[in-house]
Amino acid sequence: MTAPSGIDIEPLRTILQMECQRHYADSVVIGGLDKYLRRWAKETTDKIGSAQLLAHFHALQLAEPGYAEWNTEKRKEWVEGVLGWLGQIEAATGAAPATEGGASGMSTTHSPDGDAELDSPVTIVKGITTNLASKLVRLGVNTVRDLVYLFPRRHLDYSQRKSIAELEVDEEQTVVATVWEARAARLGNQRGTEVIVGDETGNIRAVWFNQPYLAKTFRTNARLVLSGRVTAFKRQMVFESPEWELIEDKELVHTGRLVPVYPLTRGLYTRQVRNLVKRVVDSWAWRVTDFLPQEIRTRCQLLGLPEAIVQAHYPDSHSMKAEARKRLAFDELFVLQLGVLSKKRDWQETQPGNAFSIDTGIVNRFVNSLPFTLTGAQQRVLREIFADLKEPKAMMRLLQGEVGSGKTVVATSALLVAAGNGYQGALMAPTEILAEQHFRTICQLLSRKNDGGDEQGNVRGYDGVLSRPVTIALLVGSLSEKEKEALHQRIQEGDIDIVIGTHALIQKGVEFWKLGLAVIDEQHRFGVLQRSILRQKGFNPHLLVMTATPIPRTLALTLHGDLDLSVIDELPPGRQMIRTRWLEPELRGRAYDFLRRQVAAGQQAFVVCPLIEESESIEAKAAVAEYDRLSKEVFPDLRLGLLHGRMPASDKENIMQSFRDGTLDVLVSTPVVEVGIDVPNATVMLVEAADRFGLSQLHQFRGRVGRGEEQSYCLLLAENPSPEGRERLKSIEETDDGFKLAEKDLELRGPGEFFGTRQSGLPDLRMARLSDVPLLELARKEAIALSGSDPGLKMPQHYLLAREVARVWQSGGEWS
Ligand code: ADP
Ligand code: MG
Repeated sequence: MTAPSGIDIEPLRTILQMECQRHYADSVVIGGLDKYLRRWAKETTDKIGSAQLLAHFHALQLAEPGYAEWNTEKRKEWVEGVLGWLGQIEAATGAAPATEGGASGMSTTHSPDGDAELDSPVTIVKGITTNLASKLVRLGVNTVRDLVYLFPRRHLDYSQRKSIAELEVDEEQTVVATVWEARAARLGNQRGTEVIVGDETGNIRAVWFNQPYLAKTFRTNARLVLSGRVTAFKRQMVFESPEWELIEDKELVHTGRLVPVYPLTRGLYTRQVRNLVKRVVDSWAWRVTDFLPQEIRTRCQLLGLPEAIVQAHYPDSHSMKAEARKRLAFDELFVLQLGVLSKKRDWQETQPGNAFSIDTGIVNRFVNSLPFTLTGAQQRVLREIFADLKEPKAMMRLLQGEVGSGKTVVATSALLVAAGNGYQGALMAPTEILAEQHFRTICQLLSRKNDGGDEQGNVRGYDGVLSRPVTIALLVGSLSEKEKEALHQRIQEGDIDIVIGTHALIQKGVEFWKLGLAVIDEQHRFGVLQRSILRQKGFNPHLLVMTATPIPRTLALTLHGDLDLSVIDELPPGRQMIRTRWLEPELRGRAYDFLRRQVAAGQQAFVVCPLIEESESIEAKAAVAEYDRLSKEVFPDLRLGLLHGRMPASDKENIMQSFRDGTLDVLVSTPVVEVGIDVPNATVMLVEAADRFGLSQLHQFRGRVGRGEEQSYCLLLAENPSPEGRERLKSIEETDDGFKLAEKDLELRGPGEFFGTRQSGLPDLRMARLSDVPLLELARKEAIALSGSDPGLKMPQHYLLAREVARVWQSGGEWS
């Protein structure tokens, strides 16, 4: 690109400089500056050769300003911004030619392109020493931008100004008064400061404990602002340790307004951080270029970015604070969506997928062989999946279904379709126990149409399902090296049609001959990275991820916006509601009695031991101890089995087998039974230390029972639950709706913990509330429209936005 040339800079510069001298009264141009600018922009836009300068041009809203409506402060900042931009144009025309999209010589030295400087370390700010910077790091603040974006946790409302006579006890209020007397004083047995201030309506005392030095700060006759609560002491009102501020010419920072409360860390003080952020925001916020296209900003009625940042810190009013939050939250959600959508585009549109033909013969034969009929929801979801598989682009679908809704048969049908098309299919589960169970279930389902297969080992073949024998294998970490190698070999040669396994599936040695469909079960246990490694084992295979952790639709679309959504919203008929009870510790004996009675009636029970996050081996030891205790002291007459993640696979399999066969009455286990285990004769789920689990997890445990005809029960024990723990236990007792529980869980734990930020690979959301459905929808709608009209954000007016998406997603971690 050549340098912009032939742009008439001087007249505009002169006008703006005059505007500046006339205190931004919009009095320089007859008819107003807006009109002039519109004409000027029309003549100029096409002449701006550099993408960066053009982006700035749009960011400054030069084509469509609203100067007439702005207040003086906004006008001032805008004029300064435009003058800076004009300087850049001049530099580009005069000296170094600007290159496409890149920073040319002009942005290296001092430049009005404040945006680049925003990513400098905080130490470039005057007064921030390396010592102070090292404290700020603890708040996650490294760059100037981080500091500008260090939003307060909340605001104190000190905006209620009163005269001294109007003050009321116990309310947050502000007075502006004159200091009559200030002295260091003994307050009880502490040293502190005492002042008497007054206004035309009266006098009041204010005291600060432990801060005798303050007395010197408050000189007699100084004007002082006090904000805080007033208490009554011996029928006299007093301000106790109020926020204070001397009236100088400056804006109030600590009093008299909505005052921000920032996160602090050791060695940082409230007033210090407030002063620092105020100073930095005042001088830097206006340099943040607004990356949102003007059109979107107008349509969604959003504040400009610098304005929003300023108002988020020091709002003029409650409504401005809300406006600021809306804008900043929109940004987070919008950028999140754009990133997610561009991933989807990469997968689906830039690489061709494999179109399958759907052989209804195969599907019907399989479905008809099942011992039950599919529910309406299962049938609908299958149709949705088949419609995707037929397309020559990769399916990317999330299948949500309540615990026990029957996702496995749906997945199996899809895997058979893949096999019928001559492709391989893979099903990945988070634990060996679950992978083994899937293997056995699917083998069982297929063997119904089988004319005798090999019923042993980790590879099995079945006739009568496809027109040729179909081969199914189990690949888990605990196989011997020799078995694994043999299996790797057969997978690579295409000798295996369907592989079921754990993480072992995505290890290096595993190469598929022709992977056409990857299914991931219980996807919340996997990160985005693992999902994408499995995909990369094939040439753009179809992807189906399944979860029993249901989240509200809008939220699912936002967070998994790269996936299309199918929901099984219907349980197979005949399922009973599970009775759930949270028992106080002293009722433990009753819980055991109850369990014993159920066993006597021919049922079986689970006992889940506490979650121990530090290590799986400690968790295993705890389970062993609990197993010993229960089998020796509590249930010596019952048949107990033990299951934990550290056992050799063959032992696990034996135990599960015995439990399924009914030769064990009680299965004592670590929380590994959380996902997927299916033993219809089990009717009691007893969870120890239930308060330590998240709601969704408790719901999963509960889903292990109630799979047969009998009434089932979930008993929750908790020694000494915290208030939040109590709230969770109450919720799970009262609700059996997985969606409602997931929502509640989200609310109680926040999105970070709920999704496991480390795993999710999603960028942080700081201002956005995931409960704000209208805003979620708005951001998603705008993101979809924009990705449609400018896929890849290639247009010059979207240059800044593209850069922001790249910036945010880069720090968002493991997104592949
Ligand atoms: P989840 O969705 O939790 O993974 P599963 O696939 O394990 O559920 O299914 C739970 C149980 O319900 C299994 O025993 C399965 O065979 C059974 N099942 C699945 N679909 C139906 C149906 N339509 N009618 C009756 N039982 C079904
Ligand atoms: Mg399942």
